[in-house]
Amino acid sequence: MKSRFVRTAGIAAAAAVAVVSMLSAKQQPSPGAARSQTKVVLLGTGTPAPTPDRSGPATAIVVNDTAYLVDFGPGVIRRATAAAAGLNIPALQPVRLRVAFATHLHSDHTVGYPDLIFTTWTIGRRVPLEVYGPKGITAMTQHLLEAYRVDIETRTNADGNQRSFPEGHKVNAHEIAGPGVIYKDANVTVTAFTTRHALESYGYRFDTADRSIVISGDTNPTQSTIDACRGCDVLIHEAQTPAWIAVRPESGGAPAGTFRAFAEKYHTTTDQLGELARQAKPRLLVLYHYNALSPDELQAAMMKAYPGHFVIGRDLDVY
Ligand SMILES: [Zn+2]
Ligand SMILES: [Zn+2]
Repeated sequence: MKSRFVRTAGIAAAAAVAVVSMLSAKQQPSPGAARSQTKVVLLGTGTPAPTPDRSGPATAIVVNDTAYLVDFGPGVIRRATAAAAGLNIPALQPVRLRVAFATHLHSDHTVGYPDLIFTTWTIGRRVPLEVYGPKGITAMTQHLLEAYRVDIETRTNADGNQRSFPEGHKVNAHEIAGPGVIYKDANVTVTAFTTRHALESYGYRFDTADRSIVISGDTNPTQSTIDACRGCDVLIHEAQTPAWIAVRPESGGAPAGTFRAFAEKYHTTTDQLGELARQAKPRLLVLYHYNALSPDELQAAMMKAYPGHFVIGRDLDVY
């Protein structure tokens, strides 16, 4: 589905047009998406790079008017608001965000955590968030609550505007012990699988009444991702093109080859993703958390690597 988000940056707008104009038959959204009760809403398709048109990694699975978040990168609540209002998905009204899953604790996936906790509270969330993630999510949560202690005290004192719902900033953090079913309710069963990244990391499979959706997080190609999908309806996966990795400047003057070595161990090239998707056989492959020289270069690299149905995800796309 075409994003309704208005891109204001000139370069970003040009890039968006390029992507839209390049959509081939195999790049159209899955025809089942319009009829489905379960929607995938891309709230942020970006990476650590602060690109204005691609917010930090965040994805929403919306089932029966309830939203489940995967990751909370920078901008998550603004994008959720844009989806709620602009795409008419009320489940993404920030005050209704209650359940979230972190793939790993890298900052690009979690910088939006205080936004998720406190913005939703200040606009009316009254019950605790339920947040699932790797070991360390509990400590991160406690540290954030402590970091904002002055805010919490001020908003809940006798003069505070949140004093009538002082529980609303609370978070129940749940650390995942390992792969397997980690969450289940009337809408969805969520299964975690181990991925291969620079720190403890998980991908998630969502099973609903009408769809199966797998999201990779950041990872090297893994058999566990293939096994989690196995003909799933939607596989959302990260990717970088080899040409981009080859020319990416080192950050902060790090020695030459530092990022390349990191990417080879902990991320996925478009070639590797093509091979993975051939084995995983998703009905639709959605690229997110991608890096490339240009939209054209990314599209060409994936067309070469993978003959199946894929799209290059953009913020506020719905599948
Ligand atoms: Zn990342
Ligand atoms: Zn990462």
